[in-house]
Amino acid sequence: MPTSLPPTRAEFARTCRRNQRRILWMVLAFMLAFGAVGATVLLIPQDWISPLKDLLAFKVLVFGGFIGLMVGFLAGLIFLASKLEWRCPLCQKKHEGTTTYTLIATGRCPHCLESVWNEPELGHPTPAKNLAQPQHSQAEFESDTHRVRYRWQPVVRYLIAAAVVGLVACLLRPTLAAYWVQSWGPDTLPFLNPLLAAPSITIAFWSVIALSRDLDRQAAHIRCPCCSASLNGGRLTAITGNCHRCGSQVIADPLPRLATPVAQRLLTRAELITPRQRYHQMMPWGCIGGGGLAFAYFGLVMWGLDIPFRGELKPWHALVLSGAIVLQIGGVFAVEYWNSRRSCCPNCHRSLVPLAEYALASGNCPHCGHQVIADNDDDNSLVCYTSPA
Ligand SMILES: [Zn+2]
Ligand SMILES: [Zn+2]
Ligand SMILES: [Zn+2]
Repeated sequence: MPTSLPPTRAEFARTCRRNQRRILWMVLAFMLAFGAVGATVLLIPQDWISPLKDLLAFKVLVFGGFIGLMVGFLAGLIFLASKLEWRCPLCQKKHEGTTTYTLIATGRCPHCLESVWNEPELGHPTPAKNLAQPQHSQAEFESDTHRVRYRWQPVVRYLIAAAVVGLVACLLRPTLAAYWVQSWGPDTLPFLNPLLAAPSITIAFWSVIALSRDLDRQAAHIRCPCCSASLNGGRLTAITGNCHRCGSQVIADPLPRLATPVAQRLLTRAELITPRQRYHQMMPWGCIGGGGLAFAYFGLVMWGLDIPFRGELKPWHALVLSGAIVLQIGGVFAVEYWNSRRSCCPNCHRSLVPLAEYALASGNCPHCGHQVIADNDDDNSLVCYTSPA
């Protein structure tokens, strides 16, 4: 059930923020609860549990407790996520997830393109300076983007190939297993299955890439003439008339910009485009750095404390493992945080980098809705801003 839209854009921004925070707290609380229950179970002496293990009531209690925890968590998550949904008061279409950012940044419904809070229209869209020759009219752009559709043919082709490869792997398994045991012994035999499954999983995964490539091919004619970004997804271009990657105006007759408060200081597009490029380049380093740290810590502790890898699971195994997981996740978050603070909204001080496309297309902050990019931004230092020949 989508909640009814709050009466103003600012209030909607506040409500979304509050609900996002609640979801985050809930996930954290659940992880802590799960860890606490797991640690408690491991701390109970084995001789207490052993006589109970075969009792039906005990099994029901353990299984029921686990299922109850999961169901409670999922129900809470679905309830909170529904608070992020909203219904357009004009076309009645239901929206969820990232469209909230579109609504905060532009004030218009991504479906019917109308102003949902009836805000006054300003004449010039942001950024007014436009050096990418607009190629489409609003009407042409609408009909072109509606023609791009998900097609099943490219996906099915890859799924059939994955099934055939999987079948061949199944048929070959007995022969390969015999050969494996002969060469490396029976201890490492469990590794054979993932190895055999890998090719068909890879091919099946490739169907997702084929799908996005097919969409890209269909949308070849609706690219930004300046930076050649595909303008198909997100509806940001349809609403703002601008490219979501470089901010250039690509629709000749865009919808008027809606009135919104202006931040105390305004940024140039370059102040967003450069940090965003760096952000994407740096992203893998969070995983690599965190993973390396976690791996080194895990190895050192296990080796230093001389904990055997085999045998019964003890509480300290879980502690060591959770330490490694914390390091891995912490590494990712540290790099992500440091990376995203390169460019922030001068009004609400939240990072603009991960959601740069909303600010670049609309000129406004997707967190608070204030205008953050100057209307007269005519920075020519970016390659994209030199008008195409
Ligand atoms: Zn609508
Ligand atoms: Zn562009
Ligand atoms: Zn802001």
